[in-house]
Amino acid sequence: MERLRDAQLFRGIDSDFLDEMIAEASLRHFSQNEIISFPLNGERGIYILLEGKVRFVSHRENGTEIEFDTFHTGELFGARIALGEMSPSSPNFYVADEDSQAAFFPIKLLERSMAREPRLSLNFSRIVARRMIKIDRRLSRTEDNYAQLLEVVSRVYKETDLLHPNFERTKFYRRSEKEIKALAQSGESLLLWGESGVFKTQFGRKIFHLSEHFRSVYLIVNFYREENLYLGGRKEPLTPMQVLFGWEEAGRRKAGMLELGRGGTIFLLGVERLDPETQIRLWRHIQDQQSPDRAGFEPGEHGPRIIFASRHSPKDLEGQSRLIPELAAYFEKRSFHIPPLRERKTDIPDHAQFYLEKYCRKLEKGSASISDRTLKMLLDHNWPGNDAELAETIKRGLVLAQGPLLEAEDIFLDFRKVKTRGRVDILRFDAIFKLFRSPWFPSVLQAAVIPLFLALVAALIFGPSIPDSNLGAVFSWALGWPMLVIGSFFWARFWCTICPMGSLAEGLKLLINKEPQRALPQVLRRYSGWIIMGVALLVMWAEMTFQMRYIPARLGWLLVGMTCFSLFFACFFERQGWCAYFCGLGGIIGLFSRLSPIEMRADKNVCAARCADHPCYTGTAARKGCPLFLLSPSVDSNFSCRLCGTCVKNCPHRSLNINLRLPGGEIWETRGKTDLSFFTFAMLGALACELLGWEGAKSVSETHTVGMTLLFVFYVSGFLLALILLSSLGRLADGDTLRGHLARYGQAHLPIVFMAFLSYHLYYLLTLWAPLMDLAGTQLGLDQLQLLQWQAHPDTIRFLMALILWCGFFWTLLLLRNVAKQKKGFLRTFSLHSLAALGITLFFLAALDFHFFHIFHL
Ligand code: SF4
Ligand code: SF4
Ligand code: SF4
Repeated sequence: MERLRDAQLFRGIDSDFLDEMIAEASLRHFSQNEIISFPLNGERGIYILLEGKVRFVSHRENGTEIEFDTFHTGELFGARIALGEMSPSSPNFYVADEDSQAAFFPIKLLERSMAREPRLSLNFSRIVARRMIKIDRRLSRTEDNYAQLLEVVSRVYKETDLLHPNFERTKFYRRSEKEIKALAQSGESLLLWGESGVFKTQFGRKIFHLSEHFRSVYLIVNFYREENLYLGGRKEPLTPMQVLFGWEEAGRRKAGMLELGRGGTIFLLGVERLDPETQIRLWRHIQDQQSPDRAGFEPGEHGPRIIFASRHSPKDLEGQSRLIPELAAYFEKRSFHIPPLRERKTDIPDHAQFYLEKYCRKLEKGSASISDRTLKMLLDHNWPGNDAELAETIKRGLVLAQGPLLEAEDIFLDFRKVKTRGRVDILRFDAIFKLFRSPWFPSVLQAAVIPLFLALVAALIFGPSIPDSNLGAVFSWALGWPMLVIGSFFWARFWCTICPMGSLAEGLKLLINKEPQRALPQVLRRYSGWIIMGVALLVMWAEMTFQMRYIPARLGWLLVGMTCFSLFFACFFERQGWCAYFCGLGGIIGLFSRLSPIEMRADKNVCAARCADHPCYTGTAARKGCPLFLLSPSVDSNFSCRLCGTCVKNCPHRSLNINLRLPGGEIWETRGKTDLSFFTFAMLGALACELLGWEGAKSVSETHTVGMTLLFVFYVSGFLLALILLSSLGRLADGDTLRGHLARYGQAHLPIVFMAFLSYHLYYLLTLWAPLMDLAGTQLGLDQLQLLQWQAHPDTIRFLMALILWCGFFWTLLLLRNVAKQKKGFLRTFSLHSLAALGITLFFLAALDFHFFHIFHL
């Protein structure tokens, strides 16, 4: 079976994809002179010869046998059986010329694979078309019907053409039916024009079906695709003139499309891509269509009718000198315009329903329906990719949908917008790509972190109750939390990939050897940002109220509690529900990682063009899909993606990139998110409470818990109200809605929040470093660690903290500028938010100073 990799059919096919196909193929042996027909179960399919020789022969009524073709090792045969061109009683058959061996690919496998890998259908069409032409020469000698043979070629296209929209049911088609029929029956060449994705190909086929040429050959030649110039597996491209009118090779004449399509119809996409000389020759062909003598065909035969197709109107093309005036004048009366989907929105509900039913069948999903909110979303969208985009969107939605209702959360629009500016993909380096594909990644790292985590929790709970003597506590504040904040910048949310709470949950699933199938409620996806923000605030509130900084055991129990939640969700629900929809710690890291210079993104064009079943989400036989319920091409923010690399392993099309980018670029490149804007300001409130609350709590209430809770609510709601107030003023300047303005600008203040947290944790890192080394040295018996003790001067710490905050301020200004540029009223909105950012910076400069240098009097 290994020899299959060299077969012509699989040229340019991804090896992982090929492995999957080969696994489903079966081996067949034929002894010399054995007739090869349908397998015993009547299953249709194609063969690829692995050993021996096979002939294709025909028995004539007069008892003669004509040999049409011979197949050698590595060649495909049986296409006629696969395409249903040969019944078991056919006088034509394949016969083994010697003892032979072949791999059999059932037609269902072939169709499925072609749907996923267009290159395969292209190879298949080429091979079959070449064979047909070869057979044609022999048949011509036997005076068989040439056109009948060529129809097989057109059927190849039909078989591989996988989109059959229900455009006949649409309002637009019904309105234009008469015009289409008249054009079809006129028999004249004509032009179909409309934007990419309006299914010009389907309209062309419909015109062919309604014409008198129906049942004769229908050939498609697409000059928008360069591979059409490489007929016959050539290394050098042909010119469009050669493709259409034929060429000489090794002293022999090769037939062009016009000759192959005589008596039938040619669908020619991209007329404007043809040079003027070829256009003139086509124009002459149109003129000669009714005069066979002048066209150079045999008397009684007609040159083919040509249905031209273009993305532009004839007028535009002529204006840009991309169409000769003769053709432009001809098309003026013989053209049909297919408007873009945004101009025939009344078709959307019908179309959407049709695709829903079609893909439900294909994906074996039973029945499904579209919610009102989803339909409204579909109607509101502009559909730059037209009907093709709608079909793809519905299919993708169905892959994601967890129930029988297609919700707005399952729909991802603007799928093809790929941001590549200012990005460098590091997965293009083989070593990094191999690392992410390795089965050991990230399991080895996860296995290494778990014992450390368990030791940390044990030290917190069972170690000394005085925080300064508890190694777990000192480690957490000196290194643990600072590293989480710093790490969220340098490696985004990668911490979650090795986080022991998540790893233990994955380990538990392996241990019970069962992946629970119970789905979490759909509504969680819609509100996950809010829920995560709530849990994050709860954790911070608990940390302050229960004084976890000073009582190590409580911090230990908090970690145990979070681990239990993670294990509970792993046991009862599919994937990692806790991490995807609840974990506040992961949420804070995710929020900060939006500023990271690293991101994992899919190439949406590859996904849209080549992917049928989205294994990054659905998983493969060897591996489950994304643990966080993400469809890779829909990921446009670091907030949710934890860079675990599962999708890199699962993707058969090498669509995933790990990009280096401008830090914070995603804030102005992606749509604003209301929940994340509130999350940003809520974090400011929580930090303000941490810095100022300890003193204030005593004055608010005698009980620390009550006082701290009241202050926590006060600070968090104060900052949230400030955001609302700021946005209400800002929207007056840019004319946006309150929600829109808040969503865009709230998140632009993220750098100052991140830097305030960094500044806060830097203090602990620098002041607790020496005690940490001392404690670790004495308690672990590693005296060498004591040599690493180092103490920064308080003035240095103070200076560094202020420097970090000011860097955050200027970074925020940069983000605000890029966000403000996208709307009107730039100067006013930018000034307003810059003032707010300055206010926040000054506030935290004072608060940090007050907390660390006045309360604690270093
Ligand atoms: S989301 Fe929370 S529990 Fe899950 S991996 Fe990240 S930090 Fe750990
Ligand atoms: S990332 Fe890969 S597997 Fe996922 S949709 Fe894109 S091409 Fe398909
Ligand atoms: S999108 Fe890919 S890298 Fe991100 S969490 Fe999902 S599987 Fe992991």
